[in-house]
Amino acid sequence: MKWHNHKLLTGLTIFLATSDPLATVSSMIGSIFPDSIEGKTFNPKIHRTHSHWFVYYVTIATIISLYIMYTTKIMNIYNINIYKTIMHYGIGIINNKIVISLFILYFFIGCIFHILEDAVCGKIPLFNPNKKEFGIRLFVVGSIREYFFVACCIFIMFFIKKMNL
Ligand SMILES: [Zn+2]
Repeated sequence: MKWHNHKLLTGLTIFLATSDPLATVSSMIGSIFPDSIEGKTFNPKIHRTHSHWFVYYVTIATIISLYIMYTTKIMNIYNINIYKTIMHYGIGIINNKIVISLFILYFFIGCIFHILEDAVCGKIPLFNPNKKEFGIRLFVVGSIREYFFVACCIFIMFFIKKMNL
């Protein structure tokens, strides 16, 4: 999937789910991280291996989530709106830690989205980070079918939002 489509799909999903512009921006940056970490030159040998192994990102996201839950005593941390928190409480010392942690958490959520989005246009690692073994190729990257797929996803997301499902 093209980077602008990664950003669009990830950012829109997070925005519709959280209504949080800061969480959205963070997830959009994260949504291109697994590719950008591979470096400027494309190397098919390392492409979509360790950089696209969900285990790293899920582990980090879980640790950060637990930290936020433990510190705030809030279980549904995805209800915490970073933007509104800053607007309401300002930037305090304790607040800062939570706000920064949430911002980093959404970055890793963006990375996880990237991997899921890649799994519909090729293979990604599942159990072994060196083996591209999971996914289906619904479209070729950059093709008209990719844009059609993205458009369908956007339509479904707005539909879910509108129906309040
Ligand atoms: Zn990728």
